[in-house]
Amino acid sequence: MTSDQKPQPLLPELPPDLAPLARRDVPLRQLTTLTVGGPAALVCRLTTPDIALRFQTWARNNRIPVTILGAGSNVLASDGGFPGLVMLVQTAGLTVRNNLVTAGAGLPFDKLITGTLEAGLVGLEFASGIPGTLGGAVMGNAGCYGHEIGEFVQRALLLTPDGKLETVTPADFGFDYRITRLRETGAVLLEVTFALTAGDTGRAAQTRRQHLADRRAKHPVDLPCAGSWFRNLPPAAPGQRRRPAGRLLEEAGAKDMAEGDARVFERHANIIINAGRATCAQISRLADRMRSAVRGKFGILLEEEVRRIG
Ligand SMILES: Cc1cc2nc3c(=O)[nH]c(=O)nc-3n(C[C@H](O)[C@H](O)[C@H](O)COP(=O)(O)OP(=O)(O)OC[C@H]3O[C@@H](n4cnc5c(N)ncnc54)[C@H](O)[C@@H]3O)c2cc1C
Repeated sequence: MTSDQKPQPLLPELPPDLAPLARRDVPLRQLTTLTVGGPAALVCRLTTPDIALRFQTWARNNRIPVTILGAGSNVLASDGGFPGLVMLVQTAGLTVRNNLVTAGAGLPFDKLITGTLEAGLVGLEFASGIPGTLGGAVMGNAGCYGHEIGEFVQRALLLTPDGKLETVTPADFGFDYRITRLRETGAVLLEVTFALTAGDTGRAAQTRRQHLADRRAKHPVDLPCAGSWFRNLPPAAPGQRRRPAGRLLEEAGAKDMAEGDARVFERHANIIINAGRATCAQISRLADRMRSAVRGKFGILLEEEVRRIG
């Protein structure tokens, strides 16, 4: 019996209005870009705030563990799966009013970028090519090329863990390096409003093309992976940039490491790829070896950026 076939504990029946919106025993490898992970007992798609509220209330009343996912591009799911409810945020839609853009948290981030450029607004093009939804990007304060998503957030609509729809501000998020205070609280981000600038969209489109080409050259854009595995290190001195974990990993010899089909990407020592049928256990062993190599050579303990499920 493979981990995918392991029986999950029985969950109570869903009410008739919710049952058609959920599926049972869905392999998490189908919901994550690393394509790893055993079955989630129940998976639902949150397409409106009302559906989100109804699923959340049902899970709370029945004491069912919940995890939230966008496109699963920054997570490692357990081989044993997840014994509760996985809520996939799929609220979509995009509206533009002057320089303010409001979009559903389930919208693919790249669609947000192209949509805002078409509306004559610039600012988000730096993030071209970051996979995933805008909910995942905002909750994790995704960033690259010297910018972070949090810089552009004006307000957002959140379903709080106790079932309230609330409008929150950047101060509530507490944007920090690849993290916010609201992630991991059980709050569901449903909609975000960004403040952008009317500007030179031709130049922004050129920046976008450059970043996409750069990513194609350096990142495994067509291979299963979850982006950078470890967080970059704090700057050595105030005003300087963070020190890339990839450089330390490369100098520590990580590029040659593999555990079964879990391998370090040949062009970027901070990226783990699934070259076939890698398991969560193999990936975890590989990440441990990478961390140990850096600790042994530099005495520095790397912290994971990828979030684990199950
Ligand atoms: C090839 C590749 C390149 C990448 N490059 C970058 C990069 O340059 N910069 C960067 O920052 N990241 C990068 N990433 C990582 C990842 O794409 C981003 O972090 C992305 O923003 C995650 O979005 P997601 O929808 O996939 O989130 P998921 O992986 O589904 O979730 C990530 C976390 O956010 C939470 N979450 C997601 N949506 C919601 C929501 N609506 N409400 C509440 N919580 C939510 C989840 O619970 C989880 O904790 C890269 C990944 C890949 C595979």
